[in-house]
Amino acid sequence: MHTADANTENNNDNNNDNNNASQSASAQASTHKADNGAENQLDNELVAKLSRKVDLARLAQAAEELDTAEFEALVRQAIRRSRPHQPPPINGDYYDVTADLTPQEAAYQKQIRHFLEQEARPIINDYWERGEFPKELIRPIGQLLCDTLDADGYQFPHPSPLMSGVLSLELGRTEPSVSTFIGVHRSLCMGTIFLYGSDEQKAHWLPAMRRFEKIGSWALTEPLVGSAAAAGLQTTARRDGAEWVLNGEKKWSGNATFADVNVIWARNEESGQVNGFLVERPTPGYHVEKLKGKIAKRAVENVLIRLDNCRIPLDNRLPGVNSFRDVGKQLAVGRAGVAWEATGIAMGAYERSLAYCNQRAQFGRPITSFQLVQAKLVQMLGNVTAMLSMMRQLTRLQERDGFVSHERASLAKAFCSEKMRETVALARGVMGGNGILLEYDVARLFADAEAVYSYEGTYEMNTLIVGRAITGISAFV
Ligand SMILES: Cc1cc2nc3c(=O)[nH]c(=O)nc-3n(C[C@H](O)[C@H](O)[C@H](O)COP(=O)(O)OP(=O)(O)OC[C@H]3O[C@@H](n4cnc5c(N)ncnc54)[C@H](O)[C@@H]3O)c2cc1C
Repeated sequence: MHTADANTENNNDNNNDNNNASQSASAQASTHKADNGAENQLDNELVAKLSRKVDLARLAQAAEELDTAEFEALVRQAIRRSRPHQPPPINGDYYDVTADLTPQEAAYQKQIRHFLEQEARPIINDYWERGEFPKELIRPIGQLLCDTLDADGYQFPHPSPLMSGVLSLELGRTEPSVSTFIGVHRSLCMGTIFLYGSDEQKAHWLPAMRRFEKIGSWALTEPLVGSAAAAGLQTTARRDGAEWVLNGEKKWSGNATFADVNVIWARNEESGQVNGFLVERPTPGYHVEKLKGKIAKRAVENVLIRLDNCRIPLDNRLPGVNSFRDVGKQLAVGRAGVAWEATGIAMGAYERSLAYCNQRAQFGRPITSFQLVQAKLVQMLGNVTAMLSMMRQLTRLQERDGFVSHERASLAKAFCSEKMRETVALARGVMGGNGILLEYDVARLFADAEAVYSYEGTYEMNTLIVGRAITGISAFV
């Protein structure tokens, strides 16, 4: 093709383009006209609507009196108000206490939270209402803890104090009955065998218990002796040839309806001291009856146990226990764990009630816009933050000293259980009637908190332990 021909062709193309452009411009213009017509009609309707509500002339005059900056600020505010409210993300760990976890531990925490939210939360209310433990969760929980808490780098059965605390925090936050199940099995029963058992007892029980293939229970409290267990246990152990013979009654002992082994604390008739014994189920003379009618921790299976000339082999005595003092050492670790659990319950109640308030509207506004509701939410967050900070410092001391002192564990248990009780009551209250319905979760936390307030030493007993430490005077009796 010649250059001239090529130019002509280009010109033709341009002409075509021009023609097309002018056609589309006139089409656009007519669409614009139509759009403008519709817009004008909309504007007119809006103006008519507005003028029924406000004096438009006065409004225009007021707008004229504003300088540009004031006018823009007013418009921005109006736009903000007209948008649907987007509440900020909810986080009960306001001071980033769990930021001290290693990246691996933070990943474990996520894994535990995910399991509890996905596997436990959807089924727990039903079991809680029926007063049964969800046994279908036992093996998966065992697997979860083997993969996280007992993973490489931790000393079994106590991982890093902070990670151990965070487990209790997460359990309390989502499901306190599962928390008690694990606390009794792992901390109380396995912990006692680990601390005071013979090598044979440890080798026999701990590996299977670690995988939750065998389940443990722990029985100190009696129908007539709770807080005064240190001085007044009535269950007795008598040596008879190659056997121990146990007699008496025990009350509460979580998991005992289905547990394979129970740690029974009894007074040795010969020495007068408290000793520990491993009783397997079934053993003749070991009778277990489930307690009915509980209003808290309903998914925990608590019991009444009758020991009626219950005979066990001599080897079933825990050789490391010589007196009640040894039970006390175990209790201090358990109390710290329960203080973490109380913190988790308060955190769960705060987070869930805030989520509820965010979506609940009354008088045409979200209830979070009311000052009295905000004050309660802030009071809850303050409590949770104080509890978490206290627990973090307790674990720092545990990391430094290698143990938790009685008095420090008791202060944590007393303080956190009292603040938990206040927090769940506030959470339940800001949710109105729905605060007492299981389906909204806070009702379960509210009820379960009552058990936490009383177990592992009541609020009063833990207060008295600290009172004795700081004054040097025992006020127990
Ligand atoms: C859900 C749940 C699970 C449990 N699991 C287990 C378990 O697995 N194993 C186990 O052994 N036990 C378990 N317990 C029992 C628990 O440890 C006891 O309930 C607790 O120690 C309190 O004992 P008590 O109920 O007999 O109350 P009591 O000792 O009778 O106390 C009643 C009230 O008197 C107060 N009081 C007592 N003495 C004094 C004093 N000197 N000064 C001031 N006030 C005082 C108490 O603080 C309390 O308010 C569980 C309890 C519950 C609720």
